Amino acid sequence: TDSSRRTDFSRRRDDAPPVHGLSETIVGVLGGGQLGRMLCQAASKMAIKVMVLDPSENCPASALAYDHMVGSFDDSATVQAFAKRCGVLTVEIEHVDVATLEKLEQQGVDCEPRASTIRIIQDKYLQKVHFSRHAIPLPEFMEIDDLEGAKKAGVQFSYPLMIKSKRLAYDGRGNAVAKSEEELPSAIDALGGFGRGLYVEKWAPFVKELAVIVARGRDNSILCYPVVETIHKENICHIVKAPADVPWRVRKLANDVAHKAISSLEGAGVFAVELFLTRDGQILLNEVAPRPHNSGHHTIESCYTSQFEQHLRAVVGLPLGDTSLKTPAAIMYNLLGEDDGEPGFKMANQLVARALEIPGATVHWYDKPEMRKQRKMGHITLVGPSVGVLEARLKSMLKEEGYENP
Ligand code: ATP
Ligand code: MG
Ligand code: MG
Repeated sequence: TDSSRRTDFSRRRDDAPPVHGLSETIVGVLGGGQLGRMLCQAASKMAIKVMVLDPSENCPASALAYDHMVGSFDDSATVQAFAKRCGVLTVEIEHVDVATLEKLEQQGVDCEPRASTIRIIQDKYLQKVHFSRHAIPLPEFMEIDDLEGAKKAGVQFSYPLMIKSKRLAYDGRGNAVAKSEEELPSAIDALGGFGRGLYVEKWAPFVKELAVIVARGRDNSILCYPVVETIHKENICHIVKAPADVPWRVRKLANDVAHKAISSLEGAGVFAVELFLTRDGQILLNEVAPRPHNSGHHTIESCYTSQFEQHLRAVVGLPLGDTSLKTPAAIMYNLLGEDDGEPGFKMANQLVARALEIPGATVHWYDKPEMRKQRKMGHITLVGPSVGVLEARLKSMLKEEGYENP
């Protein structure tokens, strides 16, 4: 790899060779889904070259990337071959071959964030252990190896009990709730049994879910984006409101927890910190993503520096950009597949057509090769004078197409 070409302006010596443009570093992204696609969109503004590694020939990032290597980000030989072509390696998904990233780092390959960070985050149980050691507030949790262990956890944490897969979780696939001891076997079955590795979490009686995007530069500077509220439907992110309507004290606490959590991890990039706000005003950490995140999509239209531009700035060593809102408020609405195939496309198209009529609305369509129920197909961001006004606009957009009101 050619890490000597990295453009770390803050550390550049005067006699270093001239850089033509913002950065000559080729950014290699493991994964080419919608996050990779939006990274490519941000990169094009700055003429930064982004290469993606993704097994799907027509993945969302493919058409926009400087280059697309077709292959698995979970295969060692493929990741090594890909790394040879990049100046810095980063991820848009945490479920990658981390052992290979560690090996590459030892050989001097620049991974941002660090392989150690990906290793901690890709195993949710390890992640919880890590954050509890760093005194980050979390729901109580416990590893379970068999039904007896699950029952013990049920006695200790009571019900409902949240059972989670340690690995390969996303969009709630990997979570199961047992409402009583009788439901334990079926919930564990739904997660594929104990073979994949399970743990339990005490139910967090949250009044709101919040999220903070945190950026860290190569110089270890840290900046937080405004706290947002996330609304999930069947475990999938559905709506994001920015800024979150919470008291100043809560905002400050959410920021502090997010800042502290990311300070405990290594490497540059943007991170998302998912949080629970409890009835008594406590903040608990749910999980961290080591990459741009759904809760930060609104930043493309609403902030001076989007989370995608920020991630690129961070990994290539440019100064971090302004994270503040340039509009009073934003709402992001995910376009989830309502149905498989053509019927799903038809419903999404109707909603997109409505959105195009709404003032301050921007439509993002990820161009996924297949429509599937509950799949993230795109999103719509509304910006405007207040969250209240935007809620009314969103409502009118959804109601007219017979969608459920938020
Ligand atoms: P993502 O797509 O964000 O990666 P995921 O599959 O990793 O999702 P989690 O973030 O663990 O899943 O959980 C999904 C949702 O389930 C949370 O946003 C929250 O609404 C709910 N949830 C998770 N853990 C708990 C808990 N301990 N108590 C109550 N609700 C929870
Ligand atoms: Mg997750
Ligand atoms: Mg989550």
